[in-house]
Amino acid sequence: MPVVDLHTHSTFSDGTCTPEEVVHAALKRGVQIFSLTDHDTTNGVARSAALAQERKLRFVPGVEISTRDHDHLHFTGYNIDVTNPEFQTFLTSNRIARQGRIKKVIAQLQTAGIEISEEDVFSRAANTISRAHVADALRAKGYAPSRQVAFRKYLLEGQPGYVPAIGVSAVEAIKHIKKAGGLAVIAHPGLVSNHWDFPTWVEAGLDGIEVFYPAHSFAMRQELLYLADRYGLFATAGSDFHGSKGGRTLAPGLQLPKNHFDRLLNKLF
Ligand code: AMP
Ligand code: MN
Ligand code: MN
Ligand code: MN
Repeated sequence: MPVVDLHTHSTFSDGTCTPEEVVHAALKRGVQIFSLTDHDTTNGVARSAALAQERKLRFVPGVEISTRDHDHLHFTGYNIDVTNPEFQTFLTSNRIARQGRIKKVIAQLQTAGIEISEEDVFSRAANTISRAHVADALRAKGYAPSRQVAFRKYLLEGQPGYVPAIGVSAVEAIKHIKKAGGLAVIAHPGLVSNHWDFPTWVEAGLDGIEVFYPAHSFAMRQELLYLADRYGLFATAGSDFHGSKGGRTLAPGLQLPKNHFDRLLNKLF
């Protein structure tokens, strides 16, 4: 089966690999279609694109947009015109809003007696800041052994550092992607199955579903394939790679059945 990865992160958001390192990791796993989809930024795309081109790896410019509707309700956009000024203004305002959220998270942690400063967190972010950088700062200070544990103890709902999601609505996220000439895909829908609204998303312009995702069960993939068929959406595969130290997925690349691979090639190139 072909191997693809349309969902990866670099140091331009909360991944621990540079854009080049992510491409190298993808090549090592035999990935045949690759996209860098950093949170609310396309600033790492040119660097990974340059290396991908040199190595003859099929490359798709990408981005992952967060929404205020849920902590995990995210949309990836592909083949966006990264020079589109309105789209870049949109991304910039998302990144600024993220900074405000992170400052609130830090203030709440400080109130709870945790010794963490804005400097500890903001110094870790080169471009887009995320709560993963707070988790890394907590880990560095000995408050947690990993990002996962830091989230569980301090950052998830019910914990002292929880601040609700910010940003645009799901429909607005899809519309921004479409207006910039991109294809809009619902990312890791299995993480937010209580918040599905496919009719509304399709009406807004949704193009695809990230059916193949590490945390999706076989039953989840089957259900999503059914929905893709019903709404005329294409299926993608994404690992959500954040670097081997950065997250739950240890390496990029997922198998995508040949019929979906061929359809993807058609849509993206
Ligand atoms: P934010 O975009 O600021 O809401 O931060 C969310 C990011 O933190 C995600 O993109 C993941 O990289 C990471 N993350 C979210 N939940 C967890 C978790 N439970 N364990 C580890 N990392 C997580
Ligand atoms: Mn992330
Ligand atoms: Mn996501
Ligand atoms: Mn992601």
